Amino acid sequence: MRGINDAVEDVVALLTFALEHAYELRFIEQMPLDAQHGWDRSQMISGAEILDMLRTGYDLTPQPDESRGSAPAELFDVRPLGASPDSRPLGTVGAIASVTMPFCGSCDRVRLTADGMIRNCLFAAGETDLRTPLREGASDDELAALLRGSITAKLPGHGINQPDFLQPPRPMSAIGG
Ligand code: SF4
Repeated sequence: MRGINDAVEDVVALLTFALEHAYELRFIEQMPLDAQHGWDRSQMISGAEILDMLRTGYDLTPQPDESRGSAPAELFDVRPLGASPDSRPLGTVGAIASVTMPFCGSCDRVRLTADGMIRNCLFAAGETDLRTPLREGASDDELAALLRGSITAKLPGHGINQPDFLQPPRPMSAIGG
């Protein structure tokens, strides 16, 4: 039976593969956006745990905070174990710790679903219908007002870590990422 050591080896091997092929590998924490609403926080592998696994095979140096901007991934320079921090990195790896280290404060995302709904957050409980007014001939100004209204109603965070958090009905696959 495979155990945690196998998982660590797999994660390090994945990074090795990515580095050899000049890919930028990113890990993302599983979020409660699954269609079956089966997400269980106790089963989630956190970003910190993934980074600990990667550090068994490589040295990771976080890139400066200011270079991140509104990007979801925290990026790390990857070097061989024991290499000088001044040496040229082998590549970079990213960790998106959406649940345990939310970055909602710098979020600039708004999503328009395939059925014409504006979602001001992946976890928004409500949506703004753009399709109906579009089909009814709304003016650009009216549509812009709807968009502005949705954006200004954006909450400061996703609330996953609050006891009253409710998973939105729409799964990630029906939002568009
Ligand atoms: S505000 Fe919503 S969409 Fe933006 S980072 Fe937070 S959870 Fe994601």
